[in-house]
Amino acid sequence: MLRRTLLPTLAAPFAAPFLKAAPKLTLESFEIFRVKVNHRGGWVLLRVKASNGLTGLGDASHGRRDEGVIGLIGEFFSKAKGRSPFDVELFRRDLMAEAEAKGRDGAVAFGAIEQAMWDLQGKAAGLPCWALFGGKLHPTLRHYANINRATVDRNPEGFARLAEPAVRDGFTAIKMASFDGLPAAGPGRKEGTDRGIACVEAVRRVMGPSGDLLVDAHSHFTVAEGFEVASRLEPSKLFWFEEICRDIPGLAELNRKLPMPTAGGESIFGINNFYPYIKEGAVDTTMPDVKYCGGLLELRKIGAISEAAGLTVAPHGPASPICNMAQAHVSAAMPNFLILELGYGEIPWRGELVNPPEVFEKGGLLRVPDRPGLGIELNERVAAAHAE
Ligand SMILES: [Mg+2]
Repeated sequence: MLRRTLLPTLAAPFAAPFLKAAPKLTLESFEIFRVKVNHRGGWVLLRVKASNGLTGLGDASHGRRDEGVIGLIGEFFSKAKGRSPFDVELFRRDLMAEAEAKGRDGAVAFGAIEQAMWDLQGKAAGLPCWALFGGKLHPTLRHYANINRATVDRNPEGFARLAEPAVRDGFTAIKMASFDGLPAAGPGRKEGTDRGIACVEAVRRVMGPSGDLLVDAHSHFTVAEGFEVASRLEPSKLFWFEEICRDIPGLAELNRKLPMPTAGGESIFGINNFYPYIKEGAVDTTMPDVKYCGGLLELRKIGAISEAAGLTVAPHGPASPICNMAQAHVSAAMPNFLILELGYGEIPWRGELVNPPEVFEKGGLLRVPDRPGLGIELNERVAAAHAE
């Protein structure tokens, strides 16, 4: 067969659905589903309907100020209405600055609509989202169990109590943030630091020597404290030490000198804000969150600049199964993907919130589906049963 005739034949299965669907398909309306999770807040889920009846999902969970996010989804959607879900760069060009000006609420609202646009694109094209981001490098994606959000007893026994079922469920990596609530000054600061370290040691004992243990400091420390705590945590052999202090120069200094890997960047919006963080060497692993960073395309772009700098990417996201699946599709296509996050033990019905249900295989592995779009639908019955 001549090359000229072969090429259109090969291209046909991919090109045809795009050509057929793209010009006609427009964003028409949206629905919000709110579900109650626990004391850390609920999940806000967005479902966008397109002109041909297809629907796309996005996670707009924020943990607080949900009303603000929902209001901004309405505001941004009114500007996106009538546009094609394929016009993500146009959506980005026209609304990203406005989203950034509205702070975290703006980022979350913007990112939720953007996620839904990709779900719609995949469904319209008959392709899984990973195929739109470069193809599947990783058929399964390792997750760590973040036990922090579901641990109410903030003592060594409390953390150990939730680490046990995570290990039994086959997770080989666990994350905790046992310095939460550390007072800014006074004798409680030393006491809290000591207790936080004891909590890490308790979880390490539960995991045994081979598991991967991740500690998130939630920026509670100064640079000097960061060095001291890191040295006390060294026997616990951390997989990473996350967000030790607040400023980029401090993080970069810690990152240069500490023996363990560092990670962070979950609240950064957009590549422009990620660039100095990466350029200054703040961390070894960047942690863009699809809900906060600007969506799936932005996650892909941040992954790419991280790759260029020799860094790995571990998308942050202890949120709903929709967030996990959205990040999974982009992560599947990222050569420098490291690990994903699961908010472990928060609610027993988590997996049932989507169809087909979310399943983690032994090792904390999530299999990336080959179904069109994100490959999941909201289980409205479960969402209604737990409506906020
Ligand atoms: Mg974190």
